[in-house]
Amino acid sequence: PYSTLPELIAQHARERGDHPALMQDSASLNYRELDAQADRVAAALQRDGVKPGEAVAVCAANSINYSVLFIGALRAGAVVAPLAPSSTPESLLGMLSDSSAKLFFVDAAVRDAIIGVRDRITAPLYSLDDSTGEATYSGWLADAKPDAVNLLPEMVFNIIYSSGTTGEPKGIVQSHGMRWAHIQRALVFSYGPDSRTLISTPLYSNTTLVSFLPTLGLGGTVVLMAKFDAARYLALAEQHKVTHTMLVPVQYQRIMAREDFDSYDLSSFIMKFSTSAPFHAALKADILQRWPGGLVEFYGMTEGGGSCILPAHLHPTKLGTVGMPSEGHDMRVIDEDGVELPRGEIGEVVGNSPAMMTGYLNKPEKTAEAEWYDSTGKRFIRTGDVGRFDEEGFLTLMDRKKDMIISGGFNIYPSDLEAELRQHSDLQDVTVVGVASTSWGETPVGYVVAKPGVQVSAEAVQAWFNERVGKTQRLNRVIITDELPRSAIGKVLKRELRDQFQAEFG
Ligand code: ATP
Ligand code: MG
Repeated sequence: PYSTLPELIAQHARERGDHPALMQDSASLNYRELDAQADRVAAALQRDGVKPGEAVAVCAANSINYSVLFIGALRAGAVVAPLAPSSTPESLLGMLSDSSAKLFFVDAAVRDAIIGVRDRITAPLYSLDDSTGEATYSGWLADAKPDAVNLLPEMVFNIIYSSGTTGEPKGIVQSHGMRWAHIQRALVFSYGPDSRTLISTPLYSNTTLVSFLPTLGLGGTVVLMAKFDAARYLALAEQHKVTHTMLVPVQYQRIMAREDFDSYDLSSFIMKFSTSAPFHAALKADILQRWPGGLVEFYGMTEGGGSCILPAHLHPTKLGTVGMPSEGHDMRVIDEDGVELPRGEIGEVVGNSPAMMTGYLNKPEKTAEAEWYDSTGKRFIRTGDVGRFDEEGFLTLMDRKKDMIISGGFNIYPSDLEAELRQHSDLQDVTVVGVASTSWGETPVGYVVAKPGVQVSAEAVQAWFNERVGKTQRLNRVIITDELPRSAIGKVLKRELRDQFQAEFG
């Protein structure tokens, strides 16, 4: 049976209204309160003439108001466009216009950041945290009941702008049916009314939403963090007896690196999740050993074109893979010419799933580029990732196609080099990018971060590395840096490093 998030919340409000839905710092909202406030949001949107299918944009740090706005907007049939606060003002203007947002909600920090383009924002602007300078969210809320809207599975739920890791962000359209599939899937991972999910990744990302939305849909409790900090994360996990969480690999890395990790009581954990960036086998192994509960890695994309899943606790010998295709997902590997490859061969991964985007917003040519059809006409989405399925059906990812290095005619996978480089005991973080080379076309360069308090020499690391690998894999240069550039969701921004290299040495 199909239901929708706003309906499910109304049901929880009737059946167990006192149960906490959202908590942040000292504030909390139970299901009855969440339901009532979502009604006020929906009624305000209807009063303002926002029609089903029209977008409401929000750009702010995680908060209870943000969460309520999200659900209330859905209840009115509106489409939520959650935007990344780390976006440049120009990029925000682009997304506001691309999504045709009717209203725009921001917090104080975002308002300060966009002050220079304020007069180019045509949608009415409200401060979600009621900070001064704009009309306030509380003043905007209506004191009325909204008219009921029938939310069909094909109606648009949200527009998520892709991370923009490899280029300009693209608006990905997700439907109520697609979100319903995510809630169904969450049941398999023992999310339920007793779940307490700690959310420390930003709400504008699909990574977060696949954990946040099902927790609320199934009547559990979401504990929100506005900003991630490893020590605070651990304290909150212990305090709230957290059962579920979604963290990106760099967050796991920071948490596991804490010397006091073992002093926290984390025995309440049932299932932990990770997605969005390479998750190294050694880190997974460390988590399995020292952090109670299961560990599940997802590999997928916001576009929804199929995903793989690795319940790491069940497959300790497969930690170097991202697992097998999720139930009902069809994943294949194709070559440069779009020809399907037999199992075992390396190529671009494509996927089909019950929760696929209809397309990119306003970008039919980008949608067409992203699609691949098999010989029966079944539609797949290209992931842009290079990988290989083994005999048992587990997928090993090499790299994004755009990050692969072709040097002197050889394909070099930065991930292979990174795995080797990571063996150096003085290094905390490593990445390898391809830079232009007159002799080789492209050549690999390593960017490394030393462990705190450790002195390393770039030449020594390079010499150590080049001793260990074959001739074609040798690093042309090693550069020591304080921190790798990462997106707000923790992905290493290789294109920034390539540009930086070009500017400095090119
Ligand atoms: P853009 O498409 O704008 O460049 P993006 O691809 O980073 O941004 P997302 O949809 O957030 O946007 O991320 C999907 C990508 O993240 C995948 O294509 C893959 O490269 C990477 N990814 C996701 N999960 C994993 C994982 N478990 N291991 C390694 N990489 C992953
Ligand atoms: Mg992508």
